[in-house]
Amino acid sequence: MNRVAKLVAAVAAVGAMGAFSGAQAQEYPGSKPVSAVVPFAAGGPTDKVARELTMIMSKHLGTQIVIENLGGAGGTIGAKKVVQARNDGYTILIHHIGMSTAPALYRNLGFDPLKDFEMIGEIADVPMVMVGNKQLPPNTFKDLLPYIKTNAAKLSLANAGIGSASHLCGLLFQSAIQTELTTVPYKGTAPALTDILGGQVNLMCDQTTNIAGQLKAGALKPYAAMQARRVEAFKDIPTAGEQGLPGVEVKIWHAMYAPKGTPKPVIDKLSAALQKAVADPNFRAKMAELGAEAVPAQRATPDSLRTFLSAEINKWTPVIKKAGVYAD
Ligand code: ASP
Repeated sequence: MNRVAKLVAAVAAVGAMGAFSGAQAQEYPGSKPVSAVVPFAAGGPTDKVARELTMIMSKHLGTQIVIENLGGAGGTIGAKKVVQARNDGYTILIHHIGMSTAPALYRNLGFDPLKDFEMIGEIADVPMVMVGNKQLPPNTFKDLLPYIKTNAAKLSLANAGIGSASHLCGLLFQSAIQTELTTVPYKGTAPALTDILGGQVNLMCDQTTNIAGQLKAGALKPYAAMQARRVEAFKDIPTAGEQGLPGVEVKIWHAMYAPKGTPKPVIDKLSAALQKAVADPNFRAKMAELGAEAVPAQRATPDSLRTFLSAEINKWTPVIKKAGVYAD
């Protein structure tokens, strides 16, 4: 941000804070809808978690939460928009693990995940599965690994941009097999999946929330669960470790944020509604059906998220620095 833009943002922030009195915080949310920015394409994994959640959370908050999809640059464009939004509780962000990997991937990120947001709480954990187009010859991950080695030049790996979950998983995978593939970025894995199914790209490491339907329908080749244990909802898919590639493990956690300076009574109301939503049996059942797991209510709190986000930044920063990958 240049100096003028910084000044404008600072004046806007002071104005927003000044305009928001204690009484207004008490009245929040009233009947005004809340805009939840999802920094990826509609119909994708983050969108699915966000829509299932906000349908239930809206009832507990007492007003409608409306999703705004703003994909691009691995989720950083949408996150930046929320940093710059009015801090009045009517704009929030639903994002995933990318909040903890972006600081290492983007030298000019333009925001600090820990300093430029108020934490509301965690939402759900989603596993990842390496999938391929049905036309790919290998049927198992064990066979896929040597196939990749000999065909690397003609194979492509889709992702949702640098900083996305699919990017991180793909990065860990390529580093583990010491082979580089051509990566194809999309605004989310929803459009990427269309191209996988159509055969325009070959492979993708994706969240089960996006591919559950296709896995059940047998429309994709499910190569490996990218975590230590098999996914409860897809027990027939062996892990990468079981098939000779241990250590490639990612869990895609999701959380909710508000712009810095959003008044505490507002954050408390949002977090209370979130805690009720994650404990709701319908939300928990929907997540389980998609292979995911809603967090326990005690993780849907600002303190828990702050501690967790900070630990995740500390976990992923050295891994990404070691890989020497930068988005900018
Ligand atoms: N979460 C992204 C999406 O919703 C995908 C990803 O991060 O890989 O499309």
